[in-house]
Amino acid sequence: MVSNMTDYEKERLEFNWNIPQYFNFATDVVDKWAQNPDKLAMLWVDEQDNEVRRTFKDFQDRSNKLANLLVEKGIKEGDIVILIMPRYIEWWETFLACLRIGAVVSPGTIQLTTKDLLFRVDTASAAAIITDSRTAAKVDEIKAELPSVKVKIVVGEDREDWINYNPALESYTTEFNGPKTRSDAPAILFFTSGTTGNPKMTVHTHTTYPYAHLITGKYWLDLNSEDLHWNLSDTGWGKAAWSSLFGPWHMGTALFVHHESRFNTKRCLELLQKYPITTLCGAPTNYRMLVLEDLSAYEFSALRSCTGAGEPLNPEVIDTWKEATGITIRDGYGQTETVLVVGNFPCVPIRPGSMGKPAPGFVVEVIDEQGQILPPGKEGDIAIRVKPERPVGLFMEYWQEPERTARCFRGDWYITGDRAVKDEDGYLWFVGRADDVILAAGYRIGPFEVESALIEHEAVAESAVVASPDALRGEIVKAFVVLANGYHPSSSLVKELQDYVKRVTAPYKYPREIEFVESLPKTVSGKIRRVQLREMEWSKKGKGK
Ligand code: ATP
Ligand code: MG
Repeated sequence: MVSNMTDYEKERLEFNWNIPQYFNFATDVVDKWAQNPDKLAMLWVDEQDNEVRRTFKDFQDRSNKLANLLVEKGIKEGDIVILIMPRYIEWWETFLACLRIGAVVSPGTIQLTTKDLLFRVDTASAAAIITDSRTAAKVDEIKAELPSVKVKIVVGEDREDWINYNPALESYTTEFNGPKTRSDAPAILFFTSGTTGNPKMTVHTHTTYPYAHLITGKYWLDLNSEDLHWNLSDTGWGKAAWSSLFGPWHMGTALFVHHESRFNTKRCLELLQKYPITTLCGAPTNYRMLVLEDLSAYEFSALRSCTGAGEPLNPEVIDTWKEATGITIRDGYGQTETVLVVGNFPCVPIRPGSMGKPAPGFVVEVIDEQGQILPPGKEGDIAIRVKPERPVGLFMEYWQEPERTARCFRGDWYITGDRAVKDEDGYLWFVGRADDVILAAGYRIGPFEVESALIEHEAVAESAVVASPDALRGEIVKAFVVLANGYHPSSSLVKELQDYVKRVTAPYKYPREIEFVESLPKTVSGKIRRVQLREMEWSKKGKGK
């Protein structure tokens, strides 16, 4: 297959965002693909191997029906609709229906508690909730406290005060005449992953996500209309919009969706073997788990491309996956606030451990405190140029938090909050989140490099490296290590791992303390929460940080 990008420099130079004045992903993209009534949009499989096939035409018709229902019940342009569902087909239908109306979709994870739900509905003054039975039950516990909610729709069994999604849809037509949605009107309210603190409510317009993810789908996922694409992430996070909705459907790609209660590595490998999945996108935590399986027992005959995003991807994991499948996992970098910003594109030679080069449409530099671009090799803040031109794939604002939004900008730049080094050839090397960088005896040490060194050792399944207070050095490097099957904690293993890190990376970076743990604290989306370990460490040793 010919890649969508064959000449990186040329593509970057010629790239133009070409923003239309009005844009609607449902009418401009999905309905366009639906002109071919047979074109497959989704192959859905559940844990019992039930299969459902849906065309773009099905999505057009069903989202039109839902849009009619919502409008009839009083939902209008600008209203906020909370959407919380596992990987049900109705999640995609609802997303599209809201976009059609010009309502603002606010997706969330099914793991939200009643307290989270109350906070979200309240802060957003949500007009509607569309959800599954489990979440509906949680909503009912707080129903007296939700005065803004006009419409409640449930996918599942009948519930008092709720519209039952599927039977209700039957009485609406597949024709819907919605408003023309302006490109700069709000369309989505996504919550960040909450890796560093409380999730932030991130507002996207019809272009900053739905339109701009063309970059993600075309250049990084490198999809085309013949592909069957599987993204492992949950529907509650920004990454679902990246890789389970806008990116692939821009390209006319069919989605493979596995409805499962929790990620299961063996099942994942079986499905990759059974179905003609051509492209896989996962979080590094998925790949770190997959490489612990015996990959030689499987054959993935259709698979041609693998991508990872959300956390740094360890070179060791890339190597092991490559040995077994012949495919190099291409790392991509971005945020809930952005579309793909930096990536490893198929036509650019990969340097394992680097997140790649800036995506077309973005000027990305490593800058200092004054907003000056740093020379190659110097660590600084990853920043996106926003003046004179703001790239389209950057969020509008944090919801009702103008000060927090303003803090992300420095001079001509948007500050991502992450640290990196750029090399002589323009590759970016992730160092860590600004808060995760360790300052030991005057040295700055990024956790990712130490974690990547540790994971190269056969005894290590996963690790998290954080700063621990130290009277002499200010901070020391401390590693929390999850051992691979068959290994047991011992002081000799501590010494062996320390010596190992000294050998494979600069010796001053070795973890002076190692603690073996059963598991690491993670966000619902599977990211390591170093902040939690760090806080534990500092309070244990009687210091605040
Ligand atoms: P919060 O902002 O709530 O603390 P979060 O930053 O994890 O959570 P997301 O927007 O889901 O929420 O994640 C974006 C962040 O994930 C980036 O700022 C970066 O720290 C990390 N990240 C994403 N992709 C990569 C990657 N390829 N390499 C390294 N880090 C990555
Ligand atoms: Mg963030």
